[in-house]
This record gives sequence, structure tokens and C-alpha cells, in this order.
Amino acid sequence: MATIGFIGLGNMGGPMAINLARAGHRVRGFDLSAEVLQAVAAQGVEAAVSAPAAAADADVVISMLPAGRHVAALYLGANGDGSNSSGPGLFEQLKPGALVIDSSTIDAATARQVAAAADARGIDFIDAPVSGGVGGACAGTLAFMVGGSAGQFERARPILASMGKNLFHAGAHGAGQVAKACNNMLLGILMAGTSEALNLGIRNGLDPAVLSGIMQQSSGNNWVLQVYNPVPGVMETAPASHDYRGGFQVDLMFKDLGLALELSQHSAVPVPMGSQARNLFHLHKQAAASNGALDFSSVLQLYQGH
Ligand code: NAD
Repeated sequence: MATIGFIGLGNMGGPMAINLARAGHRVRGFDLSAEVLQAVAAQGVEAAVSAPAAAADADVVISMLPAGRHVAALYLGANGDGSNSSGPGLFEQLKPGALVIDSSTIDAATARQVAAAADARGIDFIDAPVSGGVGGACAGTLAFMVGGSAGQFERARPILASMGKNLFHAGAHGAGQVAKACNNMLLGILMAGTSEALNLGIRNGLDPAVLSGIMQQSSGNNWVLQVYNPVPGVMETAPASHDYRGGFQVDLMFKDLGLALELSQHSAVPVPMGSQARNLFHLHKQAAASNGALDFSSVLQLYQGH
């Protein structure tokens, strides 16, 4: 069993750290929020006073933070990218041979920059963003898409298996983040397109449940129709039937579409549909200050003129 430092214990990181503790690992966690730190401390994760304290003597460090600047600041320090951290980064402190897993959804360029700095110090770093949401984090069924060497992937496998079910080696460093950006861009497009089609049918007199059933058995069938219908009342388990609460926030989808666009710019690869989807989610965010916190299937309301 490993000694694991876990940084960032929010909606995703909290349950992931708890699952590692349940699997028998010694887990020391740190988060800027005292509230979330207290919540995980009640479930087997030791609360540390700082990120360096959580990572002290750790065999493995895992981070689950909002964005690339937080990850660069954590590992590379204030000078990593000039962001909000003070003091040296964790790479100054970790022992050579330590394994570092960043599961945050961030830009591939930062993931590669941090991986190169780790490599220079003899630290194994992988980018390992996840899919599966808070439900998957709690149930330990997340999908991990990993960027790093084959050896690093194999080394991380038993740790990842305590938090997830489907483990994919996407390719070299940064490939995990590229895979995540591609998947979530497609998800954003599918949600906007499915909402558009459903709204067209509803406004032309169709019952949304009937139309959804027809499209599920026809060539328009997709994941959104199968498990995440955006029309309230069509699917009892979907966030749409619960005032668009829970699920995956509009703000996070907007962030992920931004990462896809950034990638498209760096690689000069066109993403006109992804770009359009991002504009739609942006308009939806601007329609009401509270929309950013709703589940992303609420983009249907944009079509409905709310
Ligand atoms: P969250 O806001 O609930 O958690 C992030 C946590 O990081 C917060 O508790 C915050 O206090 C903490 N934090 C920020 N800076 C810190 C620092 N310097 N040191 C220590 N703690 C710090 O967000 P989340 O939903 O858990 O998402 C985390 C990451 O996972 C994001 O990159 C997100 O895009 C990705 N993700 C989220 C979901 C989802 O459904 N929520 C799904 C897949 C991936």
C-alpha cells in the first residue's frame, strides 16, 4: 500500500481520495477550502495543513485542480507560470522516483511542460484526466485517459484502478488531455445538436418523449438521447428532471470547449462545430448569472428562448 498525497478535494477529488483510503492506502489530503478538507477527514483521509505537508515522503502525489495554472503553480512553483502560488513547487520536494498523477482537466501544453520538468528530476509524471462525473468518482468507476510512457501507465495502473474502471493509455505526455478535449468537445456538440432537434420537434407539436423514442431507434441516436435527455420529465434520472441540478456544470463544459479551441489553434486544425458549440454555451451563460452552475443539458433553454 502506498503513501499518497492528494491535492484538490472538491466534487471530484474528495470522493477519489476517499476511495483510495478505502482501498487501504495512507492518504494525506490538502485543499484550500477548510470545509471540504473536514468532509474528507471524516472518511479516512488525513487532513494536511498545506500541499507540501500532504506530499511529504509520499510515494504518489495526485492532483485534481480547476485549471492548468493551478497545476503548474503546484508542481513548478510561483515561477512555473507566474500564477497564484508562492514558494517552490512540489517537484523541489518530491523524492526521485515518486509517481505524480494529475487528473485535472487542463491544456495539453501545460501537461507537457510539467511532465518535462518532472522528467528532469527523475519523477514519473502522467496526465490522467477523467470522464464519468461526480457519480463515477463516488462509485469508483471513472474512465482515465492517460498520457505518459507505457511504463509510467503500468506503474500507475493499480492506483488508478482504486478510483476507476476503464483505464486507457492514450499515448505520450499530453495525449490524455488531448483525448479528454476531443471527447468533451464531441459531447458539447451532441448536447447542443440534440437540444436543437428536440426543440424543433416540440415547437412543431411533437411530444418530446415520443420524438426521443423515435430518434433513439433511428440514425440520430446518441449518448445524450440514451442517458441524458435535456427535456425535463422525459428521463427521470437525468439532471433535466431535477431542475438541471447536479451533473456537469455549464461552466465546466464552457471551459472544456475552450481547451478544445486552444488545441485547435495550436495545431491549426479546424473545429467549426466545437467553436459553434462554445458560442452557444457562452450565450447560455450570459442569459442569466446563475446558468453557469446549472447542468450543461440546460442549454436547451437557449433554444426555448428562456
Ligand atoms: P471543484 O471546484 O469542486 O474542486 C476543485 C478543488 O480544488 C476545490 O475544492 C478548490 O478549493 C481546490 N483548489 C484550488 N486550488 C488549489 C490549490 N492551489 N491547492 C489546493 N486546493 C486547491 O472542481 P471539480 O468538479 O472537483 O473538478 C476538478 C477537475 O476535474 C477540473 O479540472 C474539472 O474540469 C475536472 N472534471 C470535473 C468533472 C465534474 O463532473 N465535476 C468531471 C470530469 C473532470
